[in-house]
Amino acid sequence: MTVTTVLRAARVLDVPAGTMLTGVEVKVRDDMIVEVGPDLTGDLVVDLGDRTLLPGFFDVHLHLTGVRAHAEEIRAPETDILAVRAARDCETLLAAGFTTVRDCGGVTALHLRTLIAEGTIRGPRIFAAGPVLCQTGGHADQHHLPPAEARRSRESLIVDGPWACRAAVREAVRMGADFIKICTTGGVSSERDHPKDAHYTAEEVEAIVDEAHRLGRKVASHAQGRNGVLTAVRAGVDSIEHGYFLDEECVTEMATRGTVYVPTFDLKTFFERTVTTDHGLPEWRVIKQREAMTAMRESLLLAHRTGIQIATGSDYYGVPLRAHGNNADEPIAMVRDGLPPIEALRALTVNSARLLDLDDLTGTIAAGKWADLVAVDGDPLTDIEALRRVAFVMQAGIPIREPARAA
Ligand SMILES: [Zn+2]
Repeated sequence: MTVTTVLRAARVLDVPAGTMLTGVEVKVRDDMIVEVGPDLTGDLVVDLGDRTLLPGFFDVHLHLTGVRAHAEEIRAPETDILAVRAARDCETLLAAGFTTVRDCGGVTALHLRTLIAEGTIRGPRIFAAGPVLCQTGGHADQHHLPPAEARRSRESLIVDGPWACRAAVREAVRMGADFIKICTTGGVSSERDHPKDAHYTAEEVEAIVDEAHRLGRKVASHAQGRNGVLTAVRAGVDSIEHGYFLDEECVTEMATRGTVYVPTFDLKTFFERTVTTDHGLPEWRVIKQREAMTAMRESLLLAHRTGIQIATGSDYYGVPLRAHGNNADEPIAMVRDGLPPIEALRALTVNSARLLDLDDLTGTIAAGKWADLVAVDGDPLTDIEALRRVAFVMQAGIPIREPARAA
């Protein structure tokens, strides 16, 4: 017998309309929302009280690495230990309301995806890139290692030239990639390049995009400086990751092509904290962080004014100040710096769902969608911090977390 559950909460957010509904309930049968409206009946009623019901959250740029300390980035413990920690992070993410995530580089996520699908562990639905493609000396090359050793890493494919790039796309797909992650600029955390260095030629990126799209995979590009952003956007990548230094030309091109912007905006908070307090980061990195953090707010607001679709990605990977479970820091940081709350909430839900081609199935609260639902204490339209106060989580109709009952 199929049981229907009616969820009752003080407020239900209509994400597309941008309005808060009161006096409506949400009926769930199996894994689906079957009805949204007043006075619904069901076999079971869950009264969530003075809370707001939201669609399940997305984090479309994170890394499930199991790394716990900044020094481990260079000298990590055994992969078994990392994998178990990353599995724990999956449970933590789900309990924090993140029902779907996209891992933007790392092989562990490919396996976590399998473990979640077979029911061994609980966690968000995972879309995984697997290994990251970059040019020799690029952002995903490990500059502290001898070149031959860096090339043995399973976490990246260091390839140059259009045909090698095509072969790398095929290799990533062979490993199980749901999408392809590339780097078209240097980065803040890679020693021997700079965020403003443009990486890969147009010819190389066009080859990657053509190959990936032919295989039904989207392409996400780590791109921070304007030149590398433009190479990526013009070659047809589907999302720009970071985009710290956007200008008018970048946003115009992105708007024309419908490129999604994943600003990983809360990194600004991390940068601010680690340039003022010593967290053991090397000096070269602190200098690059300082440059990026002053540009990030302007880029976010410019993208918003231009009407570019923004999605939330924390770029968290498990270390202090970037721990999984705190991923709502991302929409909260966006609002703190001037993005309207409804836009941050759209980024957290429907926009991210669209990036993953899941918008027919989730990202909003409507009949016919998966029952991915989160209830938070308070009203996030007036107090975005409410996103940290998660009291209830349901993923595809399965209750994950329920509020403590009043005595
Ligand atoms: Zn990242």
